[in-house]
Amino acid sequence: MKRLVISLIVLLGCAAFDWSDVKTPAPGPTQSIGFYSAGCIQGAKPLPFDGVGYQAIRISRNRYWGQPVTLQFIETLGAKMHAAGQAPLLIGDIGQPRGGPAPTGHASHQDGLDADIWFERQPGPRLAPAEREHPRLRSLVPGDTSIDDAVFGPQHVQLLKAAAEMPQLDRLFVNRWIKARLCHTVSGDRRWLRKIVPWYGHDDHFHVRLYCPPGNPHCQPQADYAHDDGCGEVLDWWLKQQPVVFPPDDTPPKKPYRPKLPAACAAVLNAPSEDAPVRTTGN
Ligand SMILES: [Zn+2]
Repeated sequence: MKRLVISLIVLLGCAAFDWSDVKTPAPGPTQSIGFYSAGCIQGAKPLPFDGVGYQAIRISRNRYWGQPVTLQFIETLGAKMHAAGQAPLLIGDIGQPRGGPAPTGHASHQDGLDADIWFERQPGPRLAPAEREHPRLRSLVPGDTSIDDAVFGPQHVQLLKAAAEMPQLDRLFVNRWIKARLCHTVSGDRRWLRKIVPWYGHDDHFHVRLYCPPGNPHCQPQADYAHDDGCGEVLDWWLKQQPVVFPPDDTPPKKPYRPKLPAACAAVLNAPSEDAPVRTTGN
């Protein structure tokens, strides 16, 4: 009987052991496993909190872990915007130390290849650590009805174009009205518009999704999308939909998102940390 009770406690302990409970990456070479919205990452690396042209925010969420290619993408984009005279980018979530589903905020960001970059720009000194937890993060499309031209400006177009033209970028998600504005106003070379994909939300930040890097055989790529600039029928469909406004992204969902992950992710979740003792259940 005693043994049964202990087994039950262990089982319950295992059930409570979740991706967001693990505070350190899984050791080993960096590998993205599975899909952006059903996967994990081994050997994730942390984004330095400060770099040329960017600063990380909401660090207490511990979602600043990703593939080296993702960190380099952010560093390169920050440096480009700095060279263009723009204020530092505010970098939000990349992923949890071992990826996997997060308890709030996203369905994706699971394999170290997604990152959120905020539209908000704040010239002047870098934010203090406490300010980084709750920075002002204005929407460019309040209420999902139209662009707020008091906030939206040419620096946002320059930023989106720079990100979209980087070769590692698979696609970039923005609110439908931002895509529409780009479709109606960008002149000259419009090839980069193909990578700008409308999605729900994404009115106060945009989301970059990178290709599976070479040497990651278990990383599952996403199917291709528009072959033109995406300003035709697809956008028309989006513009006909009712406005959708999401609650703050730290609101717990009614039903936790629990996709079926590749079998290899169990080993990633359970691997002992390099610098920590083997995790035991019950704490
Ligand atoms: Zn995102």
